[in-house]
Amino acid sequence: MSSTLTPPRRPGTAAAPVSAPGPHGSTAGGVSAAGVASAATGRSAASLSADTRSRAKNHRRRQTAADVMQLLCVTSVAASIALYLAYAGVADFSSLQGTINAVGIMAGLAGTDLILVMLVLAARVPWIDRTVGQDRAIALHRALGKPALYLILAHGLLLTISYAMLDQIDVVGETLSLLSNSTELLLAYLGLGLLVLVVVTSIVAVRRRFAYEAWHLIHLLSYAAVLVALPHQLSTGGVLAEGTLQRVYWIALYVAAFGLIVVYRFALPIIRSARHGLRVTSVETIAPGVVSIVMSGTKLETLRVQGGQYAVWRFWSANTWWHAHPISFSAVPTANAIRITVRDLGAGSARISRVPVGTSVSIEGPYGVFTDRARTSPYLSVVTAGIGITPVRAMLEHASLRAGEASVLLRASDENGQYLWQEVAGISVSTGSSAFSMMGHRPAGTDTWMSESALRSGVTLETVFPHLHDSDLYICGPQAWADLVVQDARRAGLAEKQIHLERFDS
Ligand SMILES: Cc1cc2nc3c(=O)[nH]c(=O)nc-3n(C[C@H](O)[C@H](O)[C@H](O)COP(=O)(O)OP(=O)(O)OC[C@H]3O[C@@H](n4cnc5c(N)ncnc54)[C@H](O)[C@@H]3O)c2cc1C
Repeated sequence: MSSTLTPPRRPGTAAAPVSAPGPHGSTAGGVSAAGVASAATGRSAASLSADTRSRAKNHRRRQTAADVMQLLCVTSVAASIALYLAYAGVADFSSLQGTINAVGIMAGLAGTDLILVMLVLAARVPWIDRTVGQDRAIALHRALGKPALYLILAHGLLLTISYAMLDQIDVVGETLSLLSNSTELLLAYLGLGLLVLVVVTSIVAVRRRFAYEAWHLIHLLSYAAVLVALPHQLSTGGVLAEGTLQRVYWIALYVAAFGLIVVYRFALPIIRSARHGLRVTSVETIAPGVVSIVMSGTKLETLRVQGGQYAVWRFWSANTWWHAHPISFSAVPTANAIRITVRDLGAGSARISRVPVGTSVSIEGPYGVFTDRARTSPYLSVVTAGIGITPVRAMLEHASLRAGEASVLLRASDENGQYLWQEVAGISVSTGSSAFSMMGHRPAGTDTWMSESALRSGVTLETVFPHLHDSDLYICGPQAWADLVVQDARRAGLAEKQIHLERFDS
């Protein structure tokens, strides 16, 4: 366990003493927590309950929107099947060949519908981001990948079998005949091949073998896969016959999916980047391998960044223009300046750390729900480690906190991991929050997020955060470490809505 933290003061920042308390409010190593104001002295019971009611209302609103979103996904697949059945009727099921054919068509429709839903989920639509957060939307996008592929594979296989039964030839002969006689089907098979490539390269174990940029490039082929399969739906499929509601439905779905992608992934970021004219004004090393990059621009207040959010950045220098990275705002932007803090965890972030002053920067975002707005409880507890401090620093700065409302535990293995600590300490002092530190390596062979000495002293989440059960717990740090904090929070009885985890892997 660390002793009192007294980081070097910077002009304009106050350093709060930071320590970690032991069990039952005692302090480990004789260190007392400072910068703490009692919650009872900080706010009235009436204002606390008004805040709690408004947070509960916000949470219900977001939950309803998330439910509507899931319902729309399911309804959309159900609609594609229902519309097919409405037009084809039950006659198609009167023979074995007809049944195989009809099931094959429905599998294709459901699979295509799922793929279009996946494209919408990845289109970075602001409503989706505000409702469930981009990370949950992408998690759902990923979860749908394999079912969509299996449905499309079943579609190809079942229809080839059904055609082979009609033509009374074997499946291989039927496949060759389909490929040689129809350009639309040839394109559809090409689309299927691309889809297999996209899904296989997205399986975690395979994905890790590729550089992110290579994987991302392959992933973009999914747009091509959907588009090259379209002609066979219009011609061979018959399900999109002119003048039917089914045709209107599918065209609307295609236009919505691709329209949202064009608007939110391409047009809006280009317009936004041109409007704000961001340029790098300074790159300052704040710890070994960690830099803070300040950018200047115009009308940055119109980005309406919430502390805790991130954006996807592209630096237009010779060494960095081809890769964009999600990086959190490490301070709340002003009208003409933005700051991010980057740790060189890989080749791309190392190149960003050396970006020349004057480099022009594109911005996509802001995104994310790791903000004060997502809170559901009267108190705020935060655990952060390493570069995970960046969104925490900005979130604490943005939140209007009353004395005693927030407690922050800063975790590091050694002194090199203390970047931005003095700024967080300064914010704690000015808001009357508590800030504690826990330094030291984790004990070998134990699944814990705590230091060896903290573990030995009996420190738990409850001892660090006396109001834990009335708190939202915000966690950001290395993934495996953060998962262990989440595990402890669940064990302590926190509800899922109280746990907010920002993932830095994607
Ligand atoms: C929401 C969010 C906020 C983040 N905030 C910060 C921050 O404030 N400071 C900071 O230093 N880091 C932050 N990161 C992490 C940062 O984006 C990665 O460290 C960086 O992209 C790694 O790229 P690399 O080429 O250096 O490493 P690589 O070795 O290529 O990749 C390391 C990991 O980063 C992922 N990654 C790489 N490139 C991208 C990309 N373009 N888009 C998405 N994921 C990618 C890879 O999947 C891999 O898991 C954040 C990540 C996310 C998702």
